[in-house]
Amino acid sequence: MTKSKQTRLDALSAQILEDNVCPDLAAQATQLVFGTGSPDAKLVFIGEAPGKNEDIKGEPFVGAAGKFLNEMLAMINLKREDVYITNIVKYRPPNNRDPLPEEKQTFLPYLERQLEIIKPKLIITLGRHSMDVLLPGLKISHVHGQPKRYHGQVYLPLFHPAAALYNGGMRQTLIDDFALIPEILKKI
Ligand code: URA
Repeated sequence: MTKSKQTRLDALSAQILEDNVCPDLAAQATQLVFGTGSPDAKLVFIGEAPGKNEDIKGEPFVGAAGKFLNEMLAMINLKREDVYITNIVKYRPPNNRDPLPEEKQTFLPYLERQLEIIKPKLIITLGRHSMDVLLPGLKISHVHGQPKRYHGQVYLPLFHPAAALYNGGMRQTLIDDFALIPEILKKI
């Protein structure tokens, strides 16, 4: 019998611990924040790295940026349980510093396997950190809200909800881009 997607995701999460990925980050973090949501999701959201709240709870996007993400999901009639949410880097960087390029590259093969298991129709990158590793060479200010097909997979780069939260113009742009998701999904 083929293993369920959830079983394969659980095995991948255990593999990150076994492989001792980014031991310096791991040593300073409370726990691995692997990802949550439906393993059968058509939509996967990928952020940057866990922050303080995510590190404590072991779940991505549970702080202020997560609350904003939940509100935007509700706007398009989706709940967190309907989608899958994760980050490129799966341990909290100390003092919420930006993830380093080598940390992103080290986690990339695990993110790729995670996506390979879920096989979403649409991958949504939140902010430049996850966009840089999956859609290299693009500028978020130029391409946000525009679906991109790359190696047969459709991506939608969006601004990061934490960056947009307290910036009125960017906040409205993110909301407007988010509202495009149902139509984009229909066309894939
Ligand atoms: N910001 C992110 O990029 N990821 C989280 O999980 C939370 C905040």
